Amino acid sequence: MMGKVYLVGAGPGDPELLTLKAARLLASADVVLHDALVSDAVLAKISPAAEIIDVGKRAGQKLLTQDEINALLVSYGRTRPSVVRLKGGDPAVFGRAGEEIEALRKAGVEYEIVPGISAALGAAAAAGISLTDRRVASQILLTTFSRGIDGSAMDWGCVTSTTTLVLYMPGADYAEVSERLLGGGLPADLPCVIVSQATGSHQQVRWSSVARLASEEKLPAPALLIVGRVASHEVEDLSAQFWRTNRKDPALQPASVL
Ligand code: SAH
Repeated sequence: MMGKVYLVGAGPGDPELLTLKAARLLASADVVLHDALVSDAVLAKISPAAEIIDVGKRAGQKLLTQDEINALLVSYGRTRPSVVRLKGGDPAVFGRAGEEIEALRKAGVEYEIVPGISAALGAAAAAGISLTDRRVASQILLTTFSRGIDGSAMDWGCVTSTTTLVLYMPGADYAEVSERLLGGGLPADLPCVIVSQATGSHQQVRWSSVARLASEEKLPAPALLIVGRVASHEVEDLSAQFWRTNRKDPALQPASVL
């Protein structure tokens, strides 16, 4: 019996942020394969009759490789009517959905993506800021430093004074993150905010700046970093300022934004 695999976004933590469709699928799934990032409150929405498999990583130790997860999805998709692949946030944002979709497509297994609220949006809501505040921002860059492709390359050319940078998986070494942001030409006093466990009951929000970040106390994972002039509760005060950096001209140093 051929089934269907649903790649479902679990949202950032708060179960009320699940889509209606995600909640319905969890309540009726035959099998759920989930990542470590999915909150207990969301896992509690899974049908008691469903088989639940934790394929996530714990303390840096991989429980299953990506190839093993792909193979499991294909084999369950071929034998069980409704298979849910549950991922934190949105399944297609830093979620390895691409590899899983490709495996399902190659195997001829039907699939559907059910979007979720990505951590960037949950974190912005937690901090009470607008990622695209029109007074100071015109684009959002969802990015990470911990990336397989091309080593640690990051296209700083597209980061302007009106870019809001959202850094997923910032890691534990804030000093290194701060250094890399400064190295990318961001002003030392550019505001940033670390949001830990956004939308969960232990949510924490820490206001900082690119330079001060280096000495901030580490917040519990999962955490992400929002960098840019929107990352402040005094956006209006900053709005008249211009960031005069021209990274193409190495003689010009980043200007202050404050
Ligand atoms: N697919 C997910 C991202 C997976 S990458 C999404 O769309 O949100 C994992 C990273 O997401 C974490 O290292 C952290 O940076 C971020 N993240 C996920 N949930 C979070 C939360 N509740 N609060 C803060 N950051 C979170």
